[in-house]
Amino acid sequence: MLEVENLHVSYGAIKALHGVSLNVPKGSIVTLIGANGAGKSTTLRALSGLVKSTGSIRYDGQDISGLAPHKIVSRSLCHVPEGRMVFANLTVKENLAMGAYLQKDKAWIAKQMDYVFHLFPRLKERENQAAGTMSGGEQQMLAIGRALLGNPKFLMLDEPSLGIAPLLVKAIFERIVEINREQGLTILLVEQNANLALDVSNYGYVLETGSILLEGPSADLKANPRVQEAYLGA
Ligand code: ATP
Repeated sequence: MLEVENLHVSYGAIKALHGVSLNVPKGSIVTLIGANGAGKSTTLRALSGLVKSTGSIRYDGQDISGLAPHKIVSRSLCHVPEGRMVFANLTVKENLAMGAYLQKDKAWIAKQMDYVFHLFPRLKERENQAAGTMSGGEQQMLAIGRALLGNPKFLMLDEPSLGIAPLLVKAIFERIVEINREQGLTILLVEQNANLALDVSNYGYVLETGSILLEGPSADLKANPRVQEAYLGA
């Protein structure tokens, strides 16, 4: 569904990505793991058009390289950024409604909102609470829920475990798998928590200082001594 070849990104004099290539097949969960500053967020920003890149990005058979972010999102490719970025002063329900900004079908919006509340009952309990007053984990649920209201076909998640209590992290990752199965969503998951990410994904890439160092089925990467030593705390 997504084919990326030879992606390069620079921030002024700093080269953040040096020729990243990756594939995300339709219906799969693919993960991109790597240490701090490896270029994981930059990869997602390049794919959603938020930073300039060179190389080829094909999505659903079409070249989307160089397209503006709003054109990319209108093709059902949706990015949940690191740090959630919910609208702090809006309520949970208002945040979800913002996610549905481009949707026209009111019945579909109501049904999808129910689905999000079923997925994350905590959001239902807090539907009238200002998003900025919720815990990090609850805000992460909201950020994912808001993305689902945009009716995505392809979801990019940037470090959903960041700064979240372990119990909530587990719940969120279980929901990610559920979304993939129930909504048929293809997912590209960026994570520093390699253990969790490799558990829920089908295939993985290891990014190191802007280049892909290793790739393979997630179970193989988990068993790889290099990955174990560098990313799994072995
Ligand atoms: P983290 O897990 O810490 O978010 P990451 O793997 O997502 O790390 P990126 O945020 O993509 O890494 O950063 C890759 C490199 O690009 C880093 O060296 C970072 O300092 C640099 N970088 C990122 N954003 C900018 C920017 N706006 N201006 C200059 N350099 C940047």
